[in-house]
Order: sequence, then C-alpha cells, then structure tokens
Amino acid sequence: MHQPPIPHVAGTDPEIAELIQAEARRQRDKVRLIPSENYVSVAVLEASGSVLTNKYSEGYPGRRYYEGQQFIDQVERLAIERAERLFGVDHANVQPYSGTPANLAVYLAFLQPGETMMGMALPMGGHLSHGWPVSATGKWFRSVQYGVRADTGRLDLDEVRDLARREHPRVIFCGGTAIPRTIDFPAFAEIAREVGAVLVADIAHIAGLVVGGAHPSPVGYADVITTTTHKTLRGPRGAMIMTTAEHASAVDKAVFPGLQGGPHNHTTAAIAVALHEAAQPSFRAYAHQVVANARALADALTTRGYTLISGGTDNHLILLDLTPQGIGGKSAAKALDRAGLEVNYNTIPFDPRKPFDPSGIRIGTPAITTRGLNEQHMEQIAGWIDEAIIAATKDDEEVIERVAANVADLLADFPMPGWAPSA
Ligand SMILES: *Cc1c(COP(=O)(O)O)cnc(C)c1O
Repeated sequence: MHQPPIPHVAGTDPEIAELIQAEARRQRDKVRLIPSENYVSVAVLEASGSVLTNKYSEGYPGRRYYEGQQFIDQVERLAIERAERLFGVDHANVQPYSGTPANLAVYLAFLQPGETMMGMALPMGGHLSHGWPVSATGKWFRSVQYGVRADTGRLDLDEVRDLARREHPRVIFCGGTAIPRTIDFPAFAEIAREVGAVLVADIAHIAGLVVGGAHPSPVGYADVITTTTHKTLRGPRGAMIMTTAEHASAVDKAVFPGLQGGPHNHTTAAIAVALHEAAQPSFRAYAHQVVANARALADALTTRGYTLISGGTDNHLILLDLTPQGIGGKSAAKALDRAGLEVNYNTIPFDPRKPFDPSGIRIGTPAITTRGLNEQHMEQIAGWIDEAIIAATKDDEEVIERVAANVADLLADFPMPGWAPSA
C-alpha cells in the first residue's frame, strides 16, 4: 500500500504520482550498477511511509522534550538494540539524517574548528565529508588528505603512517566511496593509536558486507564507526554512528542537540526493519553473492581488456579506467544508460581529466544481486558493457538499442522488490 500503486497520490497530485510511477518503471527496466544504490524490501518501504513521520521526538528514548513517546521510544530502542547486536558494538546512535550529517557529528564530537583531521582524498576514493576542500569538513578543519599509490591503485599504509606522524591529526577517517579493496582496519588502528588520534571507520558502502561476513569488521579497531543505512545494508536513506562505550555520550550529544533537531521516526522504524532483515541467514548469503558477482564481473571485464583500478575487486565495486578505450567516463556512462546499464562516471586516482568528465566509471553489484542475478549473468552484463562502450566510440546507436533490448529480456525474469507492474 505504501509503494506504487499509489492511488492517494494519484488522486490528489497526479503530476507527482506519474513521476513516482515513471521512476519505479525506470528502476525496474535498468540493470542498476551504481554501487551505492539498492532495492529495499516492501517492509522497509512500508515503515518509511508510515505515520511515524507525524511525530516530534527531540532527545533520546526515555529523555525526550515532547510528550507522547510511548511507542516512538520503543521503536528507537529496538533500532538501537538491533544495531548493537548485529554489528557487535557497545553503542549505536540511529538518528543521523544521512551519511554526511553522521560524519559532521563526529567532527563536532572530537574536533574544534581549525584542528587537524586526516581522510582519503575524494579523487582517490574518499568521500567529500572526509575533509575534501569544497566540503564544510575541508573548510572548517585543517584537513590532511591521503591517497593511493599510482603504481598499485592501492593504499600505502606506510605513507599514511608517515603522514600521520608528521601532521598529528586528532581524527583519522578510513573508508570511502570508490575503494574496490578490503580496508585494513587493524593497520589503521595501529597508526591512530601511535599518533593518539580517534579512528573513524566510515563503512557507508560496505556495512551490508560487514554484517554479512563478506568484509572484515572494524569493530574492536575503530573508536567510532559511521555508516549510511541505504547502500549495501539495504535500508531506508539514513545513517548510524556506532561507538565504544567510552565515546557514546560525546557522539550522542553531538548528534542532538549539537547538530540535529527531531529524529526522523519513520526512518528509524525502517532502519529497525532493515536491521532485522540483515540479521537473517539469507542476508549473509546476499552479502557473499554481492562480492561473488563483483568478482565475476571484474574477471569478465578484465578478459575483455578493461583496466580495473587496483587490478580487480575484493568487495561490491569496480572502478574502470576507460583511457585505453578512448572514451571519457561521462560519454561512456550516458551510452551505458541508453543501453539499459546504469553506472556513474567517476574520477580515477591521478585523473588527468576534469571531475565533470573524468576517465572512469564506477560499477557495483548490490542492487542487481538483490534482484537475484548471479555470476552467470555477470558474463552477459560484461559483454553488454563492452558492446555499448565500443558502440559509443563509433556513435552506433543501433547496437546500443539492441543491448537495451537484451537487458529488458534478462530483467523480465527478475522482478523488482517493492513494485508490481501489473498492479
Ligand atoms: C555515501 C557516503 C557518505 C554520505 O552519505 P549521504 O547519505 O549521501 O550523505 C559518507 N561516507 C561514505 C564513505 C559514503 O560512501
């Protein structure tokens, strides 16, 4: 009832209803390969669309500034307990509105303006909120940025250690948005301990892999863990901050009253539902299949002569350098989209091109794995990616249309969660 069909929206606001329906069809008809995206379950959609959106609840369970929290308190307590149990952490805050506000709360908890932090540079695979200059985090703090090595496309932890020794950051972020390799949390923890910094693991992209046992966990190494809830974790758009008992109160105060007002209770409920789903054995199988699919896709692209940053993948994502194909990331992404294959253009480390038309594209398997595709389909998809990119270099729209038709044939057997086209 809370996903298309949407008769009440259609009745009162046909313009928006038609756009929601069109977006639902688009999500159904595309092989969605953007690594930060997914399909949530109908249960998550229902919770996000519930009347919990009507309630104000500034504060935390048992300590609110408004009356009427008999049920909201229980919802938030359940979300917190489920997060703590699933990740195995002392403390979870489930109120951050999204990943960037969650990271901002961490700055507020541990840094004064102008103090030094360290994070991975955006073009190297980091996130804007890890101190990149155009972000508030880069403007308000003294940001020291690390990257990957040009020859390996991988982090050099000796370089990170040297930089940390020289710059004395109070906070070090690890994790990012375009890192195809396992993050070495123990090594980061050792560096942070040596220089007396708080280690923050931002696992926004890989949280689902972590709880599914398909990527090592930062628990026991990072002082603070931030994550979005809507990427591999397959929940609503939102975020969480998890900490050791020592840092719990600093982080809670930073989120509220430091940075936010009332929590989005409908989102909290949907996070609780997603965490319950992620605790099921089927989610472990999902997380491992995401990685198996990414490996299969990486192998199939490598066989076709593509250049993968770092030479492959350990997780859910692949970063392609399209320089040898003689096409920019943006034209490639646009051609792929016309072919029914949705990716995003992305800078590659040491990219000679501009961020608005960089050398790379980023490809991920979380959404198509939710839809039920497996290794055998990755071979097909790699073939279509290759055909569409070659066609784009020759302006051959006929081939692109044929690939789009093949994509539609494949997806017809894999219904999209949350939307029934016949309804
Ligand atoms: C996606 C992401 C974020 C930001 O999340 P938003 O919800 O888009 O603000 C932060 N950090 C990392 C590593 C991410 O991948």
